Amino acid sequence: MSEASNLRKTTYRLYPTPKQAAALAQLLCSHQQLYNAALEERISAWAKARKSISYADQCKSLTQLRTELPEWALANCSSQQMTLRRLNKAFAAFFRRVKAGQEPGFPRFKSLARFPGFSFKGHGDGWRFTPGADWRHGTLRLSGVGQIRARGQARQGGEIRSSDLLHKDGCWYLSLTLAVAQPERERTGNAAMAYDWGVETFLSGITHAGDRVNIDNPRWWQQAKGEIVALQQAVSRKANKRSNRRRKTVRRLAAARAKVARKRLDWAHQQTAALAGKYALVATEELTLKNMTRSAKGTAEEPGRQMAQKAGLNREILDTAPGLFTSLLRYKVLETGGEWVDAPTRQLKPSQRCPSCWRVEKKTLSQRVHDCAHCGHKESRDTASARVVLRWALESKPGQELAETGFIPRETPSFASA
Ligand SMILES: [Zn+2]
Repeated sequence: MSEASNLRKTTYRLYPTPKQAAALAQLLCSHQQLYNAALEERISAWAKARKSISYADQCKSLTQLRTELPEWALANCSSQQMTLRRLNKAFAAFFRRVKAGQEPGFPRFKSLARFPGFSFKGHGDGWRFTPGADWRHGTLRLSGVGQIRARGQARQGGEIRSSDLLHKDGCWYLSLTLAVAQPERERTGNAAMAYDWGVETFLSGITHAGDRVNIDNPRWWQQAKGEIVALQQAVSRKANKRSNRRRKTVRRLAAARAKVARKRLDWAHQQTAALAGKYALVATEELTLKNMTRSAKGTAEEPGRQMAQKAGLNREILDTAPGLFTSLLRYKVLETGGEWVDAPTRQLKPSQRCPSCWRVEKKTLSQRVHDCAHCGHKESRDTASARVVLRWALESKPGQELAETGFIPRETPSFASA
């Protein structure tokens, strides 16, 4: 993880028990009262003496209040300071607008129904969030309330810095602020893209806007293949295994292979960097390469029916190295702060499924066009398969996570609208 980090908000829905919900409601009420009392103090000081009260002044009054009236000491102190800070922000914005010659509305008293929630800083100071594996779901321990179940998933884990407990339409949400590793790559686009790879076209992709993304097979392999085949034949022709000429040819063959490997890696780096710079979400089938090469081998008793055909296909696929490509693309997408989705090949059957009507119809490997007998959807097999993966990826993700990539409107409440 790099030193530099940036802050990212992620929201979990909270599931308090009835008893916990009552305790939360009480906390909400105490913060609302504090907010309104502090607002009243500021207003009357201004009305009586044209005196403005600062955030620091109000923190001092809070400390005094907590010692004199024990009911004020029930809530977490730094959390109460956060509520005072929120009022201070409202005033700062008010005075900024006055200065700019505008006529802003004076900060208003808030009813309980309009009061958005309260905040915590200093993880461990009265609250602690314990995320589940991969930051999926978790538990919020809140002093005075207990262990509250939380559901949701952070796109990227990080160091927990602060949190907001938000109340909206009877539901509670936990908005965590995480310090996540700074994206090491720049990304200019925000689209989602899924892809499949094939023999004619190396990569057939489709974006959520319906744009096609095609990458042709690299030409350098065909060119280099001739040289490698010639050298292989030259080596096998030389009967004397210890001859200097044979040794020289073996060295040349190794050099030619290394050169191809370097070219392939350079090419894959260039292509994947360009894709990762454009797409915020990339989805593809998991383990595609392994699945395809395994199925072609067959067994000794029962050889694969299309063994020869598949073996040829596999060689071509292996030559263009989609496995390498996918692993490079994956880490680059994650480096930009983007999301990577592996689609489960066996359950989803992307190459057999119609992206339009979702019916599954078996295709042989030689069928290069998807032509749906049910709904008439017709396009290249690989593009259709990419479309199935994309649809699955977008529908299986919780809306909150996708909001950042712009597909589903964000419904998470926030203080910004308060
Ligand atoms: Zn169909």
